[in-house]
Amino acid sequence: MDSLRHVKPAVRGLKAYTLAARRAPVKLNQNENPWDLPEPVKQRVVERALMRPWSRYPDFEPRELRSALAAFAGWRSEGVLAGNGSNELIQALLMVTVGPGVRVVIPEPTFTLYALVTSILGGEAVRVPLGPELEYDAGALRRARRESAAGVTIVCSPNNPTGGVLAAEDVERLCADGDGLVVVDEAYHEFSGESVVPLLARHDNLVVLRTFSKAMSLAGLRVGYLLAAPALAREIDKARLPYNLNFFSEAAALAALAERRELAAVVRRLVAMRDELALSLAALPGVRPYPSRANFILFELLDHDPKAVFEKLFERGVLVRDVTSYPRLERCLRVSIGSPDENAAFLDALRAALETGGGS
Ligand code: PMP
Repeated sequence: MDSLRHVKPAVRGLKAYTLAARRAPVKLNQNENPWDLPEPVKQRVVERALMRPWSRYPDFEPRELRSALAAFAGWRSEGVLAGNGSNELIQALLMVTVGPGVRVVIPEPTFTLYALVTSILGGEAVRVPLGPELEYDAGALRRARRESAAGVTIVCSPNNPTGGVLAAEDVERLCADGDGLVVVDEAYHEFSGESVVPLLARHDNLVVLRTFSKAMSLAGLRVGYLLAAPALAREIDKARLPYNLNFFSEAAALAALAERRELAAVVRRLVAMRDELALSLAALPGVRPYPSRANFILFELLDHDPKAVFEKLFERGVLVRDVTSYPRLERCLRVSIGSPDENAAFLDALRAALETGGGS
């Protein structure tokens, strides 16, 4: 008896999306915000949840959140969907567009979920390498999209894990060149200060994804949102599970939106620390940081084995992301921007790790 034979071959051939469950005092591996929402804000969310019966479903539609998101993002509320993390909305979007024979253009390397879900759905991922400096190659993306007649093109901007952005003009050119969907994952847009949301009014085939998990300090409560032309949003909505967003998360997202000024100040601090950390990394012999517009930095180790450095950092209580299994990042690690103390602890640990050898 082999019950696994009933699982789709395309799925059995895949590697799962995983994260090594390691814990460390200095956690710089998931691009989270090092600062939690202030205690009084959390308290208000709890109080709001206590006023409501937990035995009842949340609203069928998180209407209040959708209109708050519309005002926040500067888009029409009929074109806004809220999700249980933006991951859920990536899945919903691909579920309504991808099946056998559908091609999805995906840069490489990038966030691994896009290709994973595409393959599960039986679609074909058309991978487009980044340029020589791991920057986006807009011309190659346009060509791949045209030549493969792609139903969907997904661009993560700023890109996880490399940190580069695709310029709005290039996104606009992609949108104008055929009617295939162009999805821009703006999970880290707050740290770049750039967004393609203004293009939504001109391009019905553009979809923007965003999350509360990074700049908005809410990774633990899973809230993301999608912006698109209302007709397209209605189609994507068909694949969203009913009651996907629980009332606790909805209340927390509304509270975070009310804190937007304070959160914007936090983002400015993180951006300043990112730029400082990049300079410190560049000053270390054998370390090459890539320019980042996000809240993390990808860095290459020219003379040391990155896996050995990863382990040495971990021994010193610092957890970063080992990205050596990504194509072209065999010599790289990724570090999230933490608090000043965490960043200093990381730099100290890295200096020590490099001094103790481990060359390759
Ligand atoms: N997109 C990108 C590019 C990400 O890096 C992440 C989180 N690692 C997500 C989406 C998922 O975010 P969420 O927590 O909203 O599901």
